[in-house]
Amino acid sequence: MSKPINKVREAKLELYRKKGNIHAKATSGKFNTLRWAMVWFTQLIFYGTVWLTWDVNGLTRQAVLLDIAHEKFYLFGLVLWPQDALLMAFVLILAATALFFTTALAGRLFCGFACPQTVYTSIFTWIEAKVEGDHLARLKLDQSPMNARKLGLKTIKHGLWFIFAAWTAITFVGYFTPIRELLPTLPDWSVGPWEGFWLIFYCAFTYVQAGLAREAVCQHMCPYSRFQGVMFDPTTRNVAYDSQRGEPRNARLQAGNSGDCIDCGICVQVCPTGIDIRDGLQYQCINCGLCIDACDQVMAKVGAPTGLIRFKSEKELAGEAPPKGLVGRPRVAIYASLLVVFTLLGAWTLSDRSLLLVDVLRDRGALHRETAEGTIENAYTVKLLNLDETARSFKVEVTGLPGIGIVGEREFSVDAGSIRPLSLTVAMPSDTEAKGIQPIHFQISATHDASTSVMEKSSFVLP
Ligand code: SF4
Ligand code: SF4
Repeated sequence: MSKPINKVREAKLELYRKKGNIHAKATSGKFNTLRWAMVWFTQLIFYGTVWLTWDVNGLTRQAVLLDIAHEKFYLFGLVLWPQDALLMAFVLILAATALFFTTALAGRLFCGFACPQTVYTSIFTWIEAKVEGDHLARLKLDQSPMNARKLGLKTIKHGLWFIFAAWTAITFVGYFTPIRELLPTLPDWSVGPWEGFWLIFYCAFTYVQAGLAREAVCQHMCPYSRFQGVMFDPTTRNVAYDSQRGEPRNARLQAGNSGDCIDCGICVQVCPTGIDIRDGLQYQCINCGLCIDACDQVMAKVGAPTGLIRFKSEKELAGEAPPKGLVGRPRVAIYASLLVVFTLLGAWTLSDRSLLLVDVLRDRGALHRETAEGTIENAYTVKLLNLDETARSFKVEVTGLPGIGIVGEREFSVDAGSIRPLSLTVAMPSDTEAKGIQPIHFQISATHDASTSVMEKSSFVLP
């Protein structure tokens, strides 16, 4: 009795594994809900943030904009310059460390719930299901010969995919060119060459990756899947099949055995990467948990406890108690410490960041000049870089030698986000005992904000 049943199931599984695209069966449950919550969360941020605006001094600009042409990154009230590269490096290191930390805790959790490939594949598959029907209808349609109905459905699906990919590309480019300026240039394609290139590339990229390549990206192209194993330790929790409890599979249909897996194959049918989690930990598994949702439903139907497939570590599956906190988890502890360190470093860099940068260069053409008024003069070029979004005035002073000071004007205004080079003459009385090269300091302070003040070292040449 069991052999024909097994053959039918095996044939069904082969259909899912080998016939062209994987058409995963839809399932429901807590992991599926969480996955879709992440899709909504990430996509509301991506498609919505580009439309937010920010008011500065009565002027409105896009709130989040990477303005490459003017070398500025606007992030709401914060404007980052190339000089803030260290801060951006901390953000990138922090993101990488957070990924390693998550992986050490729960494997490819990022892949299953937040990776753009997963998120967009979910959206494209949802569109496909709306047009072509459920997984069985899609399998049947793929295997049927081309006819008017198939052509119509495929055309509608690809058309919708293209529209979605195009809108994704427009949104992406809108983070680099203000989206309200970009949109009017689209109907007559009067976009700039770079915008044009990225619009076409990103549209094609989204369409191919999420519509055509789908799980093949996770299986064969994603480098992260290949090296994630080095972040695992025996306490890392992954989606795993409890073979001790499940085997011998199909036993509930046979007398005298007690394995809980009824070999229904539903865990394979719902898997977006088409693998059988019962074969053990595999690099193609993105830890999406859909097989857990599906198997829990099967277990509930057959009256067995849920959790035959569950998030478990190697140690837990071997019957050991789960670790308490960070004890016995050196990798997790190291990544957690790095997270704290880089967060603190990033916060300190941000709080210590000055909105005024100063560069002082002594004029090397003339060492010094003695005047008829009894002073010695040196010439300098001082560059003031105002990183604020408002124009500001700065007062320049010199200290370090008796009677030293600026000759002429000492207050200068600098436009918002601009550099102003100044040619300054510094003088001191010639009746000094100091000789040769002497250290001095330029003190530059914002006239209406005592907290903005920068001191730069330089030197003064005496006879
Ligand atoms: S869904 Fe559960 S019961 Fe069905 S084959 Fe998979 S592990 Fe076995
Ligand atoms: S085996 Fe389970 S957790 Fe892994 S990708 Fe497939 S459905 Fe997701």
